[in-house]
Amino acid sequence: MPELPEVERLQRELEERLRGAQLRSCALRRADYARPTGARLLPRAARIDQVRRRGKQLALCTDRGPCLRIALGMTGSLRLVAAHSPQDKALAADPHVHAQLRLRSDSGEGQLLTLHVRDPRRFGWLEPFPSVEALEQGPWSRFGPEALTIDARTLTSQLARTNRSIKAALLDQRVLAGVGNIYADEALHRAGVDPRRAASSLQQEETAALAKALRTILRQAIARGGSTIRDYAALDGSPGRQQHRHRVYGRAGLPCCRCARPLTRTLVAGRTTVWCTGCQH
Ligand SMILES: [Zn+2]
Repeated sequence: MPELPEVERLQRELEERLRGAQLRSCALRRADYARPTGARLLPRAARIDQVRRRGKQLALCTDRGPCLRIALGMTGSLRLVAAHSPQDKALAADPHVHAQLRLRSDSGEGQLLTLHVRDPRRFGWLEPFPSVEALEQGPWSRFGPEALTIDARTLTSQLARTNRSIKAALLDQRVLAGVGNIYADEALHRAGVDPRRAASSLQQEETAALAKALRTILRQAIARGGSTIRDYAALDGSPGRQQHRHRVYGRAGLPCCRCARPLTRTLVAGRTTVWCTGCQH
């Protein structure tokens, strides 16, 4: 699923392409892809004035107040194309596209664009809020601190509250916002921490190493356009490049890049976890 780096890339691209763009229409092709079902997504003629990210979610904010929360779930992706172009028509015929927003760009000649929301497995959703504050002080306030800027002290206090495994804690968006299966495994390997250990058992140096590993890996992934595993892509459909840098994710049975032992696959917190028994303690 798209994690923090992938969603951060979309946020930056959307902000660049859509800031100032005016909404011409919002078409919801599957009523149940909106929360509540069939909800009106955004007011017509409103202009996008900013695009925000919190954890793995996005919000399109308008100058009239209302904003639209975008949760991409497991397989959600966004594509922005010129209206009436061959790509636009192909996406319009795609049964996995559940919503289409048509906007008049604020730049150049005011190009007409279509933002397609595609999600084959439909774990994602779209949800309008009356204001950015309603979203940030509501559902987004229950998210933990952002993983991209997490420091050792904050991570220590977040982990002290739970007896679950460190892997489960990292995946819990209320503990830390933005990390999913890929970057949890990568950060734990880099920090040398066994994913099965109780989160509250980590020593100060280990928590500091983990916080640093998270920041480093997430920044590196953003710089490389995120990881494309299955469905994720940038707004123009181009893949990310970070998947070629993964040291453990998707590499079970292959040699560890540090100690050359074969990497182990274990189920931790109900999720496939790949790690090194030689380097992670
Ligand atoms: Zn190793």
